[in-house]
Amino acid sequence: MNYNVTDILQSFEEDEFQKDLINWFKDEQRILPWRENKDPYRVWVSEIMLQQTRVDTVIPYFNNFVEKYPTIDALADAPQEEVLKAWEGLGYYSRARNLQSAVKDVAENYGGVVPDQPREIAKLKGVGPYTAGAILSIAYGVPEPAVDGNVMRVLSRVLGIWEDIAKPSTRKIFEELIREIISTNDPSSFNQGLMELGAIICTPKSPSCLLCPVQSHCRAFQEGSQEELPIKSKKKAPRPVPIAVAVLQDEQGRYLIRKRPEEGLLAGLWEFVNLELTDGGLKEHQLTEYVSREYGVKASIKDEISTFTHVFSHIKWYLTVYKGTVDGMKETETVRFVKESELEQFAFPVAHQKIVKEVKKGD
Ligand code: SF4
Repeated sequence: MNYNVTDILQSFEEDEFQKDLINWFKDEQRILPWRENKDPYRVWVSEIMLQQTRVDTVIPYFNNFVEKYPTIDALADAPQEEVLKAWEGLGYYSRARNLQSAVKDVAENYGGVVPDQPREIAKLKGVGPYTAGAILSIAYGVPEPAVDGNVMRVLSRVLGIWEDIAKPSTRKIFEELIREIISTNDPSSFNQGLMELGAIICTPKSPSCLLCPVQSHCRAFQEGSQEELPIKSKKKAPRPVPIAVAVLQDEQGRYLIRKRPEEGLLAGLWEFVNLELTDGGLKEHQLTEYVSREYGVKASIKDEISTFTHVFSHIKWYLTVYKGTVDGMKETETVRFVKESELEQFAFPVAHQKIVKEVKKGD
């Protein structure tokens, strides 16, 4: 279907909609730590953390992060390893690396002040159109759209848009629509109101229409189609990847860990030795051969400790974890032997944090 913004907004009372949405937001908004003030740095950190992660999970991480790095300069100057550690458990670690690299850019090239111009802010690493719009509107009061899945769900329903929100072209329609209906007096409350409505009232399943402040403007409610909207095509199921992990100890009982490459999935994090399994051969044999090929030493693989799965957006790891021993292996910058009590000092991806827990439990 071809959507025309003028047609969609015909007979839509945007002034009333703004008023109802903003008044509700001001009265009912949840108390959240990033709403304490409008510091663009704090808004930025919160918006990056909230991507793909629930509010309840983010709160303690946010508090800890801004206490550790209260300013642009503090984060710009921090060692990357330490920043990843503070992010440990939130997942999607490229967010933390991009945030720090963008913050350094702001410290060096913008005098430590987050830019308030759409063109400048969009140049920062990891700042996409949604984050740019959120920072500009919330911190600086610039009437820019901030369109994410939540906002598209709410507006699909309110305006009766039957377009697939998984398509990038649909986001453009919503950006255009918001430019028309956003409050220029209070874009911060308008955008946050849409986000808040999506989070607590206009939820994906069973929206609370009877409590909704914009019910009288909502076309889906009038037609009874709120459960059918938004249209969202299904993503492909994640590809299964079998992984064997070896928790190897040296003669002194220290654990072998290594750092992942600086690029790609989970870049720069630490992990136990592991490999993606091929079809042929026992897992234990594949591990032994791998250690010998990779490090030139012989590992002895013993009992299986556990099996579990871990899902990323595009792949699903099926992990089998073994313990074992290895002798005569040298440390390098990216391969270390550490005592059990030292494991906590390293940033591990979530799947390997589980293994750390298993190791500790096994004592
Ligand atoms: Fe969402 Fe229902 Fe409100 Fe419409 S009336 S915006 S469907 S909660």
